[in-house]
Amino acid sequence: GRSIRNICCIGGGYVGGPSGAVIANRAPHTKVTVVDINSERIAAWNSANLPVYEPYLHDLVVVARDGIRGYRQPNLFFSTDVDKAIKEADLIFVGVNTPTKTSGLGAGKASDLGWLEDATRRIARCAENETIVVEKSTVPCGTAQSMQEILEANAKPGATFEVLSNPEFLAEGTAISNLLYPDRILIGCFENDAGRSAASSLAEIYASWVPSDRIITMNLYSCELAKVAANALLAQRISSINALSAMCEELGANVEELSYACGLDSRIGSRMLNASVGFGGSCFKKDIMNLTYMAESLHLPEVAAYWKSVVDVNEWQKDRFTRRIVNSMHGTLARKKVAVLGFAYKKNTGDTRESAAISVVNNLLAENAIVAIFDPKVQSEQIYRDLDLDRDNRDRALICTDPYDACEDAHAVLVLTEWDMFSNKEPRLNAAPPGMDPALKEALGGNKAHPLNRREFNTPQVVLDRTNSDDEQSLGTSDSGGSEVESSSSQSSYAV
Ligand code: NAD
Repeated sequence: GRSIRNICCIGGGYVGGPSGAVIANRAPHTKVTVVDINSERIAAWNSANLPVYEPYLHDLVVVARDGIRGYRQPNLFFSTDVDKAIKEADLIFVGVNTPTKTSGLGAGKASDLGWLEDATRRIARCAENETIVVEKSTVPCGTAQSMQEILEANAKPGATFEVLSNPEFLAEGTAISNLLYPDRILIGCFENDAGRSAASSLAEIYASWVPSDRIITMNLYSCELAKVAANALLAQRISSINALSAMCEELGANVEELSYACGLDSRIGSRMLNASVGFGGSCFKKDIMNLTYMAESLHLPEVAAYWKSVVDVNEWQKDRFTRRIVNSMHGTLARKKVAVLGFAYKKNTGDTRESAAISVVNNLLAENAIVAIFDPKVQSEQIYRDLDLDRDNRDRALICTDPYDACEDAHAVLVLTEWDMFSNKEPRLNAAPPGMDPALKEALGGNKAHPLNRREFNTPQVVLDRTNSDDEQSLGTSDSGGSEVESSSSQSSYAV
């Protein structure tokens, strides 16, 4: 394939920002420009206060840019000038948001492809030469085909396009490690010479740092479906163990022992098998609903119902958790202080999209509890927004900057995100990913243990059962989802 010099990433979010930074770092001969229509986000990428929290990201983007420790990344740019970046690019990653539709056909299930289509039409309007367009967003099967048609129908004279699918498998909280050491890179292409040539150009970029046996080229439809299917399979494991956790509570079994026992079977494996309040994150629910909608559209109601049940169990688990709290606190939470440790949907991210904490806290507020929330990375404004608290009723939730303040005099303490700082273990956050090359490790800096880790957590009410995710899940793996947290299922998950 043609060799690529100039890359544009459309969409500077949780996917576009970190992937742009890693490509620029690992393929230093390419110029990478991350563009977004959201100028606040771009300004944040160009500042020291990045719009996304992700371990190592700051070191890759800010430290590298500002030349601290003599390490620079001169080939990475963040800009709002989308048109210019499109014009200059040989290859364009489209990593815009594809959330669930909230109205119209398929509302609540189908993906909203509006942003993706806008970006595609903009590419058609601006591109002048041969351009490879890479569908990075998670989308329903057949979307790359639509993109190809839109591009060809609206191309400028002389402009040609080849659309590829290249889904992203990074998991928030471990994104940089996942991008540096991916389990696999999938490239889907049209099965003709132009398609295969474009696929080999993209494969060549990844070959700068990914072993060639991990770069897999396949049929476009398999590739698009593989992303949605992988997330459905991962989420299904969490719902399976959560469903079992309810049985454990009734039977006097311990779900952690159960999970351990089953996980030892090499056919089952131990990962993504921790019971929790329920999975969160922007992807699992959205992608399963998308899969469900595809199945319904294909007139496969049994298949649709099967996958939909994974989401149903998850919603049920979140409500069950609140019910258990109320039941064990004499049937009422009115005016009782409940501390909530962790608000992000899982550790090592500031992302709260679909976080189980949102549902749980809303339930607590409905019970008239006094809720005190602490999260090390989520901004208070974000928490107020997620809870729909405007200026007049903000005092219903107390947002603390110190976990000890949140827990003081609390009747119950809920650990809703498995942040290492809530356990007495040393943080894994700053351990370099396994196999990370020494030069990059050096560039990324040393240990920066959070000062809170050095304080003893001695509030008697706090009982932490499931905050000790293993190393595997902390780094270098594709745990893309669950708040693997304090579970409603463990007998001692909270104290009254
Ligand atoms: P995000 O909302 O954080 O970022 C998307 C960005 O795209 C936004 O900043 C938005 O302003 C920008 N955008 C939208 N339309 C645009 C346009 N026409 N031109 C320029 N910019 C535009 O979303 P995300 O979490 O980064 O996810 C992006 C895609 O990747 C989704 O399809 C998601 O399903 C998929 N994905 C996400 C993850 C994850 O962990 N977040 C992992 C794998 C795949």
